[in-house]
Amino acid sequence: MRGLIIKSTGSWYQVHAADGVNYDCRIKGKFRIQGIQTTNPIAVGDEVEFELEPNSDKGIIDKLYERKNYIIRKSINLSKQAQIIAANMDQAFLVVTLASPRTSLGFIDRFLATAEAYCIPAVLIFNKLDLFHEEGLAVLADYAAIYENIGYPCYAVSALKGTSLPLVKELLKDKTTLFSGHSGVGKSSLINALLPWMEIKTGDVSEATDKGQHTTTFAEMHTLPFGGYLIDTPGIRELGIFDIRPEELGHYFREIRDLMNECRFNNCRHVNEPGCAVMKAVENDDIALSRYESYLSIYHGNETRA
Ligand code: GDP
Ligand code: ZN
Repeated sequence: MRGLIIKSTGSWYQVHAADGVNYDCRIKGKFRIQGIQTTNPIAVGDEVEFELEPNSDKGIIDKLYERKNYIIRKSINLSKQAQIIAANMDQAFLVVTLASPRTSLGFIDRFLATAEAYCIPAVLIFNKLDLFHEEGLAVLADYAAIYENIGYPCYAVSALKGTSLPLVKELLKDKTTLFSGHSGVGKSSLINALLPWMEIKTGDVSEATDKGQHTTTFAEMHTLPFGGYLIDTPGIRELGIFDIRPEELGHYFREIRDLMNECRFNNCRHVNEPGCAVMKAVENDDIALSRYESYLSIYHGNETRA
């Protein structure tokens, strides 16, 4: 039978099968994963084939279908290996807010670059709209304009008041959506407001800071009653940019990617080269300064790590 992995504990997988039933399955043998070394072979969102064991309602997974995309993070103990968090997402929502704790533009830009690298269309959800008045709303409009201009849809919502939530529901319908966001932005409140019966704990859930203790964190996949799936990644602070070489980075900033062919040197890093079309666009305000600063910051960060 064919099915979708909707839960993973590392040793057991819950598979939502074509017959509409959920089966507990294990995996058998080794799986080849598109050239990366991973600590776990499959994750939520994966499409698999399984067989029921004789006289049992438990199954054995024996085939993994090719993924259209996946997100990974570095395995904490095994530095050369990665952990697959989730697969086959249609879109990634980043929940952010300009109210406490204000999400930095640098964080947003790192997330967007990561989403580009993983080939997942990203959407920005600005939460806590109810806290803003004139001045705050103007800042919000400025922020949204930066991202709308380069093709990222932005929505201003209030999980508390329910503002614009029907719109968000509409976006989720029949899609598999990754929900991401810094702790405190209201991601849990938003999920609860969208799906009241889920009752995800909100408030001061502190993330594990002792890296030694938490070697594995599993994403949670929730079935949406109106069609589609929502993938939450509790405890995962940030989808790290994994193994992006500095010279590739420009490809993951849409507005830089669009211009880089116009730079004088075809190996331009857009840092200090003469005839750089990207730096010129920053000067002319065609590229937002904050975006370029994020580019430089990731670029130099990667360089020192390499
Ligand atoms: P998470 O860490 O991102 O899951 O955030 P929570 O959902 O736990 O929310 C963090 C805090 O922000 C809580 O005190 C919520 O009550 C508050 N909060 C969440 N959404 C909103 C909102 O739309 N407006 C306001 N004013 N507060 C919110
Ligand atoms: Zn350049």
